Amino acid sequence: MNLRVRFAPSPTGYLHVGGARTALFNWFVARQARKTDPEGSAFILRIEDTDRERSTQEMVDAIVEGMEWLGMDWDEGPFFQADGAERHRAEALRLLDEGKAYRDFTTPEELARLREEDPDQVIAFPRKRAREMGPEEAARRAEAGEPHAIRFRVPPGETVWDDRVHGATRFNNADIEDLVILRTDGSPTYNLAAVSDDAEMEINLVIRGDDHLSNTPKQILLYQALGYPVPAFAHLPMILGPDGKRLSKRHGATAVGQYAERGILPQAMMNFLALLGWSPGTDQEVMTPDELVEQFSLDRVVKKSAVFDEDKLLWLNGQHLARMSGEALAREVVDRLERLRETARTRVDRDPEWFASLMELLKPRSRSLDDLARTARPYLAQEIVYDPAAVKKHWARDPEAAAGHLEALRERLEDVEWTEEALEEELRALAAQREVGAGKLIHPLRVALVGEAVSPGIFEVLVLMGQERSLARMSAAVTRIRSGRIGEGAAETSES
Ligand code: GLU
Repeated sequence: MNLRVRFAPSPTGYLHVGGARTALFNWFVARQARKTDPEGSAFILRIEDTDRERSTQEMVDAIVEGMEWLGMDWDEGPFFQADGAERHRAEALRLLDEGKAYRDFTTPEELARLREEDPDQVIAFPRKRAREMGPEEAARRAEAGEPHAIRFRVPPGETVWDDRVHGATRFNNADIEDLVILRTDGSPTYNLAAVSDDAEMEINLVIRGDDHLSNTPKQILLYQALGYPVPAFAHLPMILGPDGKRLSKRHGATAVGQYAERGILPQAMMNFLALLGWSPGTDQEVMTPDELVEQFSLDRVVKKSAVFDEDKLLWLNGQHLARMSGEALAREVVDRLERLRETARTRVDRDPEWFASLMELLKPRSRSLDDLARTARPYLAQEIVYDPAAVKKHWARDPEAAAGHLEALRERLEDVEWTEEALEEELRALAAQREVGAGKLIHPLRVALVGEAVSPGIFEVLVLMGQERSLARMSAAVTRIRSGRIGEGAAETSES
């Protein structure tokens, strides 16, 4: 079946999580439809820039960038809603001609007064006034330049649609006010512009957030009044923060770009967004973009609000990270190394295999590219920064023992074959000789090498760090521990 869907963001802010999820669900169904009907189906990007004051080019760029980062491509557009203003106006005038709309000369002051005096009459007032004035008088006053809006005359009855998520949804038309379709300044309102554009673009399925549910009956009535086929609708559940309130900036990052900056992978973000209101109906949670496109179905979108759980995002990110090759991760991480970028670049060029192995070593413990970059630093930098908590735990409790073990180990490792097996053998033999468990050597050593209390297996760390740097780090640690300045700032290791 041919399927034409669209994502219609207003460029008044960055691409946020809710918008990205809406875009994504549209993209999924379009990608599926294009497999069977590549000609007739499309995902369209329409920028709803009718709010001239709040829409900016910067936001348009940010939305486009966010979509590109997530890997969502569109087949048509971007179209700009403001370009259709003439058509929107013509539609409003046509409705006026056909008696389906009327001119409303009520001023904002009058409406405000009425709202105070007799709020029950606010909805009925404009229509009553128009009836009393009559269309000829209204046309005459309009001709004379008197400011007025154009309101759509909501017909009696009930508006019902079969929502693809909510099922049969009905609104009593008596509860819907005669909506303004053309403002006093001649600009079209959202409901008219959206209907006119959706009809023009032959959209046959509208997927958007629940916050638009109350617009839908108005829009359906407009499609009918204008004589256009009514599309199908699917309204996606709201996204809540962990406290059960609607997701907002109070909860932290909501713009997709902020997650990109923090080292979230686009495929992980896509996976995470897909699970906000949808599930594949199996236990599988980690899914590639291809798998998501394959498995997505509006039938499995739930009505219940979805909760934005950042821990889950990080967990998914770690899972996607672990699936990437060391080479691919190296490319991503180099740019995140800031001061070490040039060093890292040179190292990747000279020794790509070493760099890829380092990524392989670090990725199981990393939940983001930032984690990966942070834990890669000790392998690239001359300088080592000691984590105070690690120092306290593994050096400061018994400094003399820690320094003694490290010193002895350093000597012993000066002249050994630098392989995991040989290093392990030497370390264990030394521990036995000093009559302590291997942990008594391994823990202080780990702090000496990477500055932290956790790392991958210590022998793998030694091998990747290389003999020269490892020995230098051990010496620096001994000096530091014996200096009485344990735990102060960074240490420079003297490597040739
Ligand atoms: N511009 C509207 C918004 O950003 C789009 C609503 C729609 O999809 O019809 O919410």
